[in-house]
Amino acid sequence: MKKVYCIGELLIDFVAENQGNDLAKAEVFTKKPGGAPANVACAIAKLGGLSKFIGCVGEDQFGSFLLGVLEDNHVDISLAQRSKNFTTLAFVSIAEDGERDFVFSRGADKKLKYDSKIKKSFQNNIVHLGAATALLGGDLEDAYGRYFFDALTQNAFISFDPNFRSDLWKGDENIFVKKCMPFVQKAHLCKFSLEEARLISGKVNLEECCEFLHEVGTKVITITLGGEGTLLSTETTKHTIPSIPVNPVDTTGAGDAFIGCLLYQIAGLHDPLEILENIDLLIDFVKIANKAGALTTTNFGAIPSLPNLEQLLAIE
Ligand code: ATP
Repeated sequence: MKKVYCIGELLIDFVAENQGNDLAKAEVFTKKPGGAPANVACAIAKLGGLSKFIGCVGEDQFGSFLLGVLEDNHVDISLAQRSKNFTTLAFVSIAEDGERDFVFSRGADKKLKYDSKIKKSFQNNIVHLGAATALLGGDLEDAYGRYFFDALTQNAFISFDPNFRSDLWKGDENIFVKKCMPFVQKAHLCKFSLEEARLISGKVNLEECCEFLHEVGTKVITITLGGEGTLLSTETTKHTIPSIPVNPVDTTGAGDAFIGCLLYQIAGLHDPLEILENIDLLIDFVKIANKAGALTTTNFGAIPSLPNLEQLLAIE
């Protein structure tokens, strides 16, 4: 089983309870672990895979809490770093119609330092880059770019998820797209939401989105479509792979569960590049990853809802 190195942010989401979408009126907040790359690491480890998290939290109680959550979920945190800066916090309120209000207090996540000693361990393993805060500057952006370069030179299998957060890039969407481009060009596998595929390609039609993304270099594209399943596209074929019917209560983390489960399966291959040749195998993997995404929507919170292998296999 190959190791999956998940690089990016780990932070606290303070979710406002019952206050509509106005943070000014919010009084009660629930503390939740957040950060897409950390969720992906948990998704892999919960299924029995080997995931290592590379990111930075503060030397405060929130940092200890977050690393404790990863450890409880069997993620290897030996490469995680701590900084004197406070742990990054996101305050969010979500109205029933999905509208969000957002305050972001960036701290330790941006302090991740590049460590050249890690490079060798990427060799023939998998590197997953989740970009939500990683492209916002700070030491993290520098480390992120260098780890990406290391992954390329060490022949790692590279997975990329842009994790576009509109609240973080208001008015600067074109900068986000530009910064994503090298990853989109070189990653073996990219996971996009529909919004991300459209934003990065500049196209609305899905066929045209995929055509553009393959043209710039992406080998395997997955576009997650919520209850509709996933569009899987390679340079030669395109398949919409349906998900399973569920009664969703909270969709947070479904995309992370999906890509985590897909990477867990790819990590079991002798050569991850086999998925570029074997489309039937890839379709089977996506069918199972769809189930992981669907199951995650049936409970509240991202990490607690991620399925273990037994729960995943119990689904027809
Ligand atoms: P995130 O909010 O984590 O960024 P995302 O938008 O990338 O997520 P979704 O499309 O919401 O991800 O979900 C990922 C996958 O989970 C989908 O491709 C699908 O297979 C499954 N899934 C999500 N929602 C549902 C649902 N309501 N019913 C069935 N399956 C679902």
